[in-house]
Amino acid sequence: MVTSPLRLSQGHLQLLAQCPPQFQRRYLEPGGALLALTDPEFSARSPNRDWGQKFHQVMQQWELGLPLDRVLDRDLQLEQSVRALLQAVPALQRPDPRRRAEHRRLLSLDSALLTVVYDLLICSETGAEILDWKTYPLPQNAAKNILNHWQTKLYLYVLAETSAYRPEDLSLTYWFVKLPRRPQSLTLRYSAALHREVREELEQLLEELQTWRRDWYEKQIPLPCRPDCETCPYRRRFFPSTPPSAD
Ligand code: SF4
Repeated sequence: MVTSPLRLSQGHLQLLAQCPPQFQRRYLEPGGALLALTDPEFSARSPNRDWGQKFHQVMQQWELGLPLDRVLDRDLQLEQSVRALLQAVPALQRPDPRRRAEHRRLLSLDSALLTVVYDLLICSETGAEILDWKTYPLPQNAAKNILNHWQTKLYLYVLAETSAYRPEDLSLTYWFVKLPRRPQSLTLRYSAALHREVREELEQLLEELQTWRRDWYEKQIPLPCRPDCETCPYRRRFFPSTPPSAD
């Protein structure tokens, strides 16, 4: 079990990088996936996640040139949100064979099979751009957090490794769609230096995971906390003797 390759998405990497104990609870323990689905915080986010999935579905239908009526399901807010995005990104308004919606790529690295799904990938002779739809407003001071997020790092890393493009020719644009605000975007350009950094981080994370999985399955040693962890919504769950934090 420990030696079998792991199929890892950006969500897995993000959770592992942020909180190994949560990763353990959710993915390594028996019934972990079930626990994740019944977690109150997880459930509380479900309505927005469902709506976000619908939004992605509509955008995919649009790219395929299929009628939207059925998937819009008379949801006025959904329709207005999609229209707002189409208006903000004129390139989406006309068909273009260089665009690929819900485009999936796989990359084998060490013990892992890294998997990404791009909402939209636009390839040209000179470069490639990944577009990603977010159904919430652009967070304040988002650039640093978004640059450090494993979605950004993995999406660009995998594209650089699985295409003939140089890292400098790649970018990732997040579009934030939340009415009544106008859609806002944030574009991150990739580079050879960032590519090297991401590779190092990735290799370290996968090595940690390999060791921790082995320790967990063979000796039941729990995955450790991150030493530099600043906020801990789960502290009391994992360490019941911990007093409540001041904030
Ligand atoms: S301190 Fe809390 S949030 Fe941080 S790694 Fe440990 S359990 Fe996770």
